[in-house]
Amino acid sequence: MAIKLGSIYGIPLYLDYSWFIILALIIFTVGFGVMPSQYPHLPYAEYLLLGVLSAILLFVSIVVHELAHSIIAKRNGLMIGRITLYLLGGVSEMTEEPPNPSLELRMSAAGPITSLAIAGASYVAWIASTSVKASVIIQGPLYYSALFNLIVAGFNLIPAFPMDGGRVLRSIVWRLNGDMIRSTKVASNVGRIFAYLMMFGGILLAFLYPGYFFDGIWLVLIGWFISSGAQHEYKQVQMMRDVADLKARDMMTRNVDRVPEDITLTDLSSQFLQRKHNGFPVMRGDELIGCVTMHDLRGTKRELWDSTRVTGIMTPKEKLVTVKETDHAKKALSLMGSNQIGRIFVLSDDMSGRLVGIITRTDVMRTIQMQESFLKSAPAPAPKGSERNISVEVGMLFQIISPEYDGIAWSTSFNPGEFSLISEQIVQIAPDRQTKQFTLQALKKGTFYISLNRPGDKKTALRYTIIVS
Ligand SMILES: [Zn+2]
Repeated sequence: MAIKLGSIYGIPLYLDYSWFIILALIIFTVGFGVMPSQYPHLPYAEYLLLGVLSAILLFVSIVVHELAHSIIAKRNGLMIGRITLYLLGGVSEMTEEPPNPSLELRMSAAGPITSLAIAGASYVAWIASTSVKASVIIQGPLYYSALFNLIVAGFNLIPAFPMDGGRVLRSIVWRLNGDMIRSTKVASNVGRIFAYLMMFGGILLAFLYPGYFFDGIWLVLIGWFISSGAQHEYKQVQMMRDVADLKARDMMTRNVDRVPEDITLTDLSSQFLQRKHNGFPVMRGDELIGCVTMHDLRGTKRELWDSTRVTGIMTPKEKLVTVKETDHAKKALSLMGSNQIGRIFVLSDDMSGRLVGIITRTDVMRTIQMQESFLKSAPAPAPKGSERNISVEVGMLFQIISPEYDGIAWSTSFNPGEFSLISEQIVQIAPDRQTKQFTLQALKKGTFYISLNRPGDKKTALRYTIIVS
């Protein structure tokens, strides 16, 4: 949960509720922990003021750090969804990945460099303030800001996702090997090793040196935070790769339950009961004009249900997030992520606004599972006319995947008694490209052949040698 603070440079700025915890913690530890050792014997109120001022400086520093990332991204045409300030700093949510390694390097390095610059400026200002013997109220926060920004820069340069250093590392590997996915994997693994080392070190510290128990626990927590971030980042990139060739229409559910615009709320409530959905698109003929949810209905007094039409409480189409059927699936995914919504409506390509489908989280998960099982079981479809060897054991199920095709489907042929065909399934790769997956079972030991062919096309038949042991 987060509240919106406003926007800077057109980028919405959000504050996660967890930030209030850190705010209290900072006012307390800085005001009554750090400051008294630096400036002893001050009145209680002054320590409190020192804590508050330091917290404000810290807050501004983090916002500037995040802005530095976002401005570079925006200037280079990347969309930034929003900036959210969390317990451990900030996160700039990009709705797309940077297109090349040099932009990613500039973008990710901008944050820590900015923090270093703030640290330097604060340090210079602190020196100046001590030489003119300025009030402790000015000196204290400047000193703390220099220290804090140095720590932020250092912490963010840890080469692990989701730290900036993880992105810096990925951009360097990416420039070397030219492969974004593999670089993400490398950076994500390095991040995990770091995270495990931190957790291990934290446990050692906590139990071998009782005086540092809480520092040890902190290390474990940060390590855990980094390891889950590293995994998340890799999954995100993998997910984008899985749907790279798909369009919105390949992912959507086509038959969407809908309600007409003129029904009353009483009718709507019975639709909710009968069809067990949490929301319905509201239609004028074939055209989508809005969306109504259970939540909208609950917000209306019961006495008004008979006299109110669904159009009176729905969210109008202008406020809904929609994609066109030929938009990239990636676009639908990033819109769902940046708007934090679970469903997105798919409209026809023409201007009619016709509703052709809906993409929900379930659709996304199903598509990704299907694509992943497909990518895993098909390292590379056999090239035309080639042979393949497959080793299996008796009774084992195995798969043969046809090359991509358009039009006439592939079929298998083999001697009965050697194999049995368990299932065949068409996998849509793109609207006009598909492959066929055959799941077979080996019935007896020996070396046998399975051929894959397309009716009326003798030349492109493929032969598979199956060694059954
Ligand atoms: Zn950063």
